[in-house]
Formats: sequence, structure tokens, C-alpha cells
Amino acid sequence: MDKNGVVIVGACQAGFQVACSLRSGGYAEPIILLGAESYAPYQRPPLSKAFLKNESEAAGLAFRQAAFYADQRIEFVGSAVVSEIDLTRRVANTRGGAGYKFDQIVLATGARARKLPVPGGDLDAVITLRSLDDAIALNKRLATSTNIVIVGGGFIGLEVAATAASLGRKVTILEERGRLMGRAVAPAISEFFLQVHRSKGITVLLNSRAASIEQVDGRVVAVQTADGQRIPADLIIVGVGVEARQELAEAAGLATDRGIVVDDCGRASLDGVYAAGDNTRHPHPFGVADTSVIESVQNAVDQAKSVAGAILGQSIPHGAVPWFWSDQGDVKLQIAGLSGPGDEIVMRGNPEEGRFSAMHFRQGRLVAIDSVNSPADHTAGRKLIAQHVRISPAALTDVQQPLKSFL
Ligand code: FAD
Repeated sequence: MDKNGVVIVGACQAGFQVACSLRSGGYAEPIILLGAESYAPYQRPPLSKAFLKNESEAAGLAFRQAAFYADQRIEFVGSAVVSEIDLTRRVANTRGGAGYKFDQIVLATGARARKLPVPGGDLDAVITLRSLDDAIALNKRLATSTNIVIVGGGFIGLEVAATAASLGRKVTILEERGRLMGRAVAPAISEFFLQVHRSKGITVLLNSRAASIEQVDGRVVAVQTADGQRIPADLIIVGVGVEARQELAEAAGLATDRGIVVDDCGRASLDGVYAAGDNTRHPHPFGVADTSVIESVQNAVDQAKSVAGAILGQSIPHGAVPWFWSDQGDVKLQIAGLSGPGDEIVMRGNPEEGRFSAMHFRQGRLVAIDSVNSPADHTAGRKLIAQHVRISPAALTDVQQPLKSFL
């Protein structure tokens, strides 16, 4: 009997990687990659970086050209929004009325950017950045905007802020917490980036929440903050996090918990269903919490490889040290590991020199390292974290001694 093979819903970082890893692992049956966007799989990270400065072209973001898909016998279908997965008949139905049969299905639907839940938050000039179409629209608006307010001092907000300021725009960042990137990095890193952005002329308001958007005839004119400030704006960019796209999974009866619940090989709660990437909740890589949701390229790629392994009958548990990067203007931040609230934080290097790392220790073990313009610390730190060895924090503070010498 003919095999239907694998249908992958979501054709970007994780979906593309599942398809490639299946083929390179020897999978011989059909692979169908269904993507809601019209573009073949492409890189998202440049959308808030080089692409906004017109330093990269849309076509240059693609992972591979059309010939690759033909060579690999991966059937990529663009503009195909899957509206239902029928696990009894083993078919994925699209909004356009097409049905794709499968033996196994992979949900790689990613996440959507959260909207700003305030009056005026749905106006045209209040935008989020998730897709290439969003970035193209943002580029057009950036060209004609003067006063830009960025809501959210997280990675995407700060990257866009740095780019907009470098284009000569007046930029204000509103961050409702007391520091930038507060959930992800050490306080010293937040403070360093606060100074970096202010030194570029960006106004950063901490403990400041957007309460409403003021408009005149549907045109955005200002943001009102919860503490009564009025900030003139003709463009508002919202970077307040993402939420997992899990509707298909919910409707199909799969377990979800702010993410599709999967095991460390990407298996969802029903047989023959897998998920990978930003839309998953998976076992925590260090067992600190029970589960975690990690929105990063590394996580999407590694989980996708585990899923392909599981479909091929191999067990490749996903447990690599998470890592992430963020380019904010000409400053590079790299993060390895997962920090937590009670960690002991020890500095390596001096923020005033613009190159340093904040190391997070838990029970005598290095669990995370945030590095600024220090790629060697990042690379060696990742390996040290993976080794789970006990090291004296003080020993790692001497910048004359490379971190790799402790491996
Ligand atoms: P996605 O890349 O979001 O792909 C999911 C795809 O599924 C989308 O194309 C979506 O349209 C499609 N889809 C959803 N529902 C359906 C459906 N029903 N039918 C068909 N298709 C569907 N990470 C880093 O590590 N470093 C960075 O510097 C960095 N910068 C970033 C900058 C920006 C602007 C953004 C938006 C993200 C950035 N990230 C970065 C995060 C990283 O891009 C994501 O973690 C990664 O793309 C996750 O991959 P994914 O495949 O899970 O989801």
C-alpha cells in the first residue's frame, strides 16, 4: 500500500528543518510542507535587524531556492493555511479546500505576536513584527514616520529601536518593568543596554506602560502612558511577546498548556502527532522547572531534529544548552543557558570596556552566561554549561584566563 508520508504544518524554521532532517536521515516517503505565508521558508532574525536597514533583500532571506525542494522531493505548498487536522481520517484540510493525507503530522506553526490590548491598539499605525510581510510594511512606514514609540523593551523592540534611531528617527521605548530584557538577562546587562540606547539618543522610559493610543480621524498622534505622560507618535511598534499558535492542536484534542505539550523527542499527546519550535511546551533542558517554552532559532532547529529522529524510529532527545543572540545597533548580545531568579550572578570583564559577560550560577554550577561583544566567552560558556561541572565562580572572573581553559 502507498504511504502518505509526513505532512508538516508551518513552513519556516522548525518545519523546514524537520523536512531536511527527515530526508538526510533516509526517510523515503512523501514530505509535504504546508505554509500559510506565500514565501518559501526564510530566516526571521534579520527582519528586526539588517532587513529594516535595507541591508538585505527579501529574496536573500530564503533558506533554499526552489530547486532544492525539487531535488529533495519536499513538496512545499505556500499560501496554504491549514484549518483542521482530522486525526481519524489522517488528513490536514486547508482553508482553500485542499486535503493532504498523512501517516504522521508535524505541527510547526510557531507563534504570533501579541497585540497591544489598549484603546486604539488596533489602529493601522500600531504594528507588530513577526513575518516578512510585517517587515515589508514596517519598512514602508519607517520611511515616512518621524516619532516612533516602541512598546516593550525586549529583544525585538530594542533591535527595532536601534535600527530606527540609526535611520534618524526620534524613538521612545516604553518598558513596563524596571529594566530592559528583564526576564532574560542579568541586571548588569539591562543597565548596559539602557546606557547604549540612551547614548544613541533613544528615550527609554522604564516602569512605563502604554495605556491608550490617541488618534485624530483614525491617524495615530500620541501614546498616553498609565502614569499620565503623552508621547507624540506617528508609528507605534509593539514588541510585547508572542503566543503559541496551538488552535489546530486544541481542536484535535492534543494536550496544550500555553504551547503544545511534547516530550523531549517532540511527540505530542496523541500517536503520530509531533510538534517543534515556538509553539511547544517541552521538558526543561536542565530540569530546573518541569517544562519550558523557548522561542529561538536554536530551539526550533534542535527540536525539529529530534522530531525527525522520532519519525525515523530513533531517539534523539532534545536537551542541548539553549542559546540565543540579539544584535542591537553595533552591540552583540549572546545568551547561553537558562537563568533563573535565585541565581548567583558573577561578572567577567568590565561593562565600561563594552566587552563583558554576566555568569549565572546555581548550586555551584554555571547555568547561563550573557555575553556582550564577547563571542569567545559565549562559545566556551555554552560548553561549560553542558558539562554540568562544579566550578568556583571566582575562578571564572579573571579575563586573562580564557573560559575555554576550564573545559
Ligand atoms: P515560525 O518561524 O514562526 O514559523 C511558523 C510558520 O508556520 C509561519 O510561517 C506561519 O505562517 C506558519 N503557520 C502558522 N499556522 C499555520 C497554519 N494553520 N497553516 C499553515 N502554516 C501555518 N531567534 C533567535 O534565536 N535569534 C534572533 O536574533 C531572533 N530574532 C528574531 C527577530 C524577529 C523579528 C522574529 C519575529 C523572531 C526572531 N527570533 C530570533 C525568533 C525565531 O525567529 C523563532 O524562534 C523561530 O522562527 C521559530 O521557528 P518556528 O518554525 O517555530 O516558527
